[in-house]
Amino acid sequence: MGASIEPCHEKCALANDASLSLIGGELVLIHARLLSNGRVAQNTLKGLEGRLAEVFPNSRIILDGQAIHPPSGCFNRSRGQYNSILILQSLSNSVKRRDDERILAVESEDLYVCHLNFVFGEADPSSRIAVVSTYRLRPEFYGETPSPTLLFSRLVKECIHELGHLFGLGHCPTPTCVMHFSNSILETDLKGPDFCPRCKFNLEERLRKDQYV
Ligand SMILES: [Zn+2]
Ligand SMILES: [Zn+2]
Repeated sequence: MGASIEPCHEKCALANDASLSLIGGELVLIHARLLSNGRVAQNTLKGLEGRLAEVFPNSRIILDGQAIHPPSGCFNRSRGQYNSILILQSLSNSVKRRDDERILAVESEDLYVCHLNFVFGEADPSSRIAVVSTYRLRPEFYGETPSPTLLFSRLVKECIHELGHLFGLGHCPTPTCVMHFSNSILETDLKGPDFCPRCKFNLEERLRKDQYV
């Protein structure tokens, strides 16, 4: 299993598009919608919705009932994987969203981008859309005993990471920070679901600044 370099490094050149409302002195992250291809368990998505709402307090995290299926053109037969850039483009063209909305799609298929053997997820802040796949987050992919708890823990981290990108954060050098770049599942397991103080500060500064531009 080869290592992967997360593709969002280039794609996440921080677009100046994070949004903020200030209500009663509280920071409010404008809402994010969760989409799924219908093959990710509903209770997993409901749990994810709850966890993201805890991590992004005062945000509105909405689980969209709409199932999205990657067009067949996103599938590379020789690799047996889906091209995540094409998925993001397809979502950008097909999913109606408000200017202040972020879209996070949770997929179950194996994802890749050109010149990388796989990706856990990818974010495009310019279109405000990200995708995360459960495929390589499953312990059984690595020959280990299936564990819904471990899968969920990994999924939460990857989703927070990609949402962090959509809200303007880059990668963080602190290995335990959720914004640390994961080159392998070991690094995903090493990091926690929380932003380090620096990333938390940057996120709030970013949102505050964008509000008054
Ligand atoms: Zn990243
Ligand atoms: Zn950090």
